[in-house]
Formats: sequence, C-alpha cells, structure tokens
Amino acid sequence: MKITNWGNYPVVDAAVHSPESVDELKKIVSSHPEMIARGLGRCYGDSSLNYTIVSTLRFNHLLAFDEQTGIIICESGVSFSELLEIFVPRGWFLPVTPGTKFVTVGGAIASDVHGKNHHIAGSFSNHLEWVKILLGDGSIVQCSKDENSDLFWSTCGGMGLTGIIVEASFKMLKIETAYIRQRVIKTKNLDETIEAFEANKYWTYSVAWIDCLAKGNSLGRSALILGEHATKNEVGYRYRNPLKIEKRMSIPFPFFLPNFVLNSQTVKIFNEIRYSAYVSKDSFVEYEPFFYPLDVISHWNRMYGKRGFTQYQFVLPKESSKEGLKKLLTKITESGEGSFLAVLKLFGKQEGLLSFPREGFTLALDFVISPTTLKLFNELDILVNEYGGRLYLSKDVRMTKDVFEKGYSNFNKFSNLKKKYDVQQKFQSLQSKRIGI
Ligand SMILES: Cc1cc2nc3c(=O)[nH]c(=O)nc-3n(C[C@H](O)[C@H](O)[C@H](O)COP(=O)(O)OP(=O)(O)OC[C@H]3O[C@@H](n4cnc5c(N)ncnc54)[C@H](O)[C@@H]3O)c2cc1C
Repeated sequence: MKITNWGNYPVVDAAVHSPESVDELKKIVSSHPEMIARGLGRCYGDSSLNYTIVSTLRFNHLLAFDEQTGIIICESGVSFSELLEIFVPRGWFLPVTPGTKFVTVGGAIASDVHGKNHHIAGSFSNHLEWVKILLGDGSIVQCSKDENSDLFWSTCGGMGLTGIIVEASFKMLKIETAYIRQRVIKTKNLDETIEAFEANKYWTYSVAWIDCLAKGNSLGRSALILGEHATKNEVGYRYRNPLKIEKRMSIPFPFFLPNFVLNSQTVKIFNEIRYSAYVSKDSFVEYEPFFYPLDVISHWNRMYGKRGFTQYQFVLPKESSKEGLKKLLTKITESGEGSFLAVLKLFGKQEGLLSFPREGFTLALDFVISPTTLKLFNELDILVNEYGGRLYLSKDVRMTKDVFEKGYSNFNKFSNLKKKYDVQQKFQSLQSKRIGI
C-alpha cells in the first residue's frame, strides 16, 4: 500500500504488517530481513518508512496504573490522545508532550520527544521507568536507566533502530485542573525574545511563535507564550468540575490546496496578521489549545499541497544561540521563503545518544518542499554545523550523512550499540540508510 508520514513526502509503496500479539510480531520479525516500526506516522519525513513496515497500532492496551505514584504501564501503540482522554478527568497529565497528541508511546520514546517544558522537565526519556523491546533475534529485553542501560539510551531517541518497543512504563504528572494559566508577552526583536525566555525560565512551559519574515530591527519579533497548570484555587470558582472540559470536534482540512495558493506573499500577510493578533496578557485556557493548537484542524498538512512539506528544526548550543539564530533567521528572511509556523523553544540539559535536545535554543519552521527550499536548507545546514548545532531526525527527510555526523557526536557509539543489539541489521528506515546508521 502507498504510505507517507506527516509531511506527505516521500510516498512509498510498502508492505504494512499490523500484528496484534507478541507471537505474531515475533513471526513477522523472524521472517523479514529488514523492517521499521511505525506508530501514528507523525514524524514528518522517512524515519518510520521502509518497504516493510510494522505498525504498532494494535498494541493499544493499557496494562496498569498506580493511583498513588502515577506510574502507568501500557503497550507501545497507545496514543497520547487516548491517555489524555482517560487520565485528565482523573487528575493526571503527560509529563512531557509534543505539539500534537496524535503520537504513540513507542513513537514518543523512539524520538525521545520534547515539549514546551524541556528546560524544566527534560525529554520523555526522563520520565520512563522502563521499556520492553523486541530485538531482531526474537528476544524481549527490558531496559531502564539502571538495567541494560546501554540499550535504554540507544532506544530513547534511537528512531526505532534497536528493535520494536512493545511496552513501556512512565510516571504521569498530577494536575488539579484541565486548565493552563497562560501569559503572553510580545517582543519587538530577537534580543528581546531571548531575554524574555531567560527572564521567565521558571515558568514550566514556554514557547515563542516567531514572525519569520520580519526583517531589520524587527528580526525575530515574537509572541512568547508561558504556561502553568492552573490550580483549583485559581479557577475553581469558574467551573463546577475543573478537570472536565467539553469535547470539541476537530474540523477536517478537506483537500490538498493547489500549490499556487501558498506563496511568499500569502505567508507574509499571514505572519503580519498573526503577530498583530497577539496581545500581551494573562488568561486561563483549556489544555488542548495551549498544547495542541494545530490538532483542532485534522489533516492540516494538506494545506501545503501535494508536493509535501517538511519542518526544518535545529538546535544551537546556548553559547552560540543568539548569534546563530540571527544568522539563520536573516538567511531565511532574505530567501523570501517564509514559514507559517516558526516556533522557538528553550532546551535544558539532555542525556542520550541520538536524542535531539541539547542546552540552547531550538527553532522549527515548516516549508513546502521545492527546489528553492531544498537549496535554502543546504545553506542553513552549513550554518547549523558551523554554530555547533544539529537537526531533529524526527522532522528530517533530506539531511546528509555528513551533516548528521557533524551534529550528533555520539553517532559512532550509537552505531556500535546498534550492531550489538541488532546483529542482523533488521531495523532500518529510509532515513537510517540515507544518513548511514
Ligand atoms: C504537528 C506536530 C507537532 C510536533 N511537535 C513536536 C514537538 O513539540 N516535540 C517533539 O519532540 N516532536 C514533535 N513532533 C514529532 C512527533 O512527536 C514525533 O515524530 C513522534 O515520534 C511521532 O510519533 P508516532 O507514533 O507518530 O511515530 P512515527 O512517526 O510513526 O515514528 C517515529 C519514529 O519512531 C519509531 N517508532 C514508532 N513506534 C515505535 C516502536 N513501537 N518501537 C520502536 N520504534 C518506534 C519509528 O520507527 C520512527 O523512527 C510533532 C509532530 C507533528 C506532526
């Protein structure tokens, strides 16, 4: 069948297997020379694509939950969206969540996802108790920070290349309400944006939307959005049950937009309007629009047309972030290739071999795939490498082996562990072949 991930590029003709039990999964693994696991396909590019794909979506059982500690055990195909539906009304939230709730637990571990709280809470791996993985030889191995720790650290952020995660255990976060106390701070340029991040880093959640087409003195002007889980005292008098929010239907984006609709002019107008619409203020918002503003429109990826799109996401070390961001943003504004979505976040310290975060700032921008954007990405890659940064594997579809190796200094250590745990090199994706791991 034809299959593609969130960026709608590339599209591959693949055999997709959807086992329901560990026995079925073992049979598939033993009878195919090469494959890759796939969850909900929310990586943008080819990380979960190959010509043989193992879908984990039928591994969708919740196995245990301890009300005292908040520790959950579930199968790897359970989605964050399902967890939120069950646990928010009971007063529990995900310890770390990406900008969409439509990811599986297995996908979140394999990409070692980060959220708006990385500077305080770290990435998803930080909250894991243990992970169970089916290796290429058919054995199932449990690993954690203390048990088979080399397998644990090569699986968290390891993009499915060590084996297939079948179960995991992690600690949920206690909350009193389903609301977020939000503060918006508008900034006039990048210096102000970075200062505002630093001055507000005690807030649990922070993210800035950047107007990536603003130039000159306005380069990097943003709306910084801060958040804390609201307490009952803060919102209690407004709502009878502050853990319950009304379920809203998502609106589908009905078709692929024709390519000509998105051009530098429409993107510029959108960015102008969006920047003007933000007002510096405090308010209470439901958790969904705070964490998942884009999930309101299902299939919004069709907006970019049939050519497909990608997200260029890089992180720069703290020391070089300011200068590097100015250089990269200038290159982007000069190219005229604007992005609807340009998001800046602050990262804290990070462990792991291929986990993307590192202390510093990360910027993510969506672009249509075209010869001019591909040329722009190559130019940006040079700057990212020069400033000691790296690109996020989960958003990538075109990074070269050289750019990967320059950005991920632990790649050799990872490759050796992959050889140790995946002796027959069964777990490979189109991406892993391209970047040589
Ligand atoms: C709108 C949007 C916003 C996003 N925001 C963020 C963000 O803020 N932070 C962030 O970190 N990421 C973000 N992402 C990326 C997303 O969180 C990751 O790509 C995540 O891994 C997707 O999970 P999935 O279940 O869809 O996995 P897939 O996309 O299907 O696969 C992703 C990777 O996980 C591997 N994998 C999946 N399941 C398993 C398994 N059971 N065992 C072994 N390997 C497995 C695959 O092989 C692949 O390498 C965003 C994506 C979108 C579309």
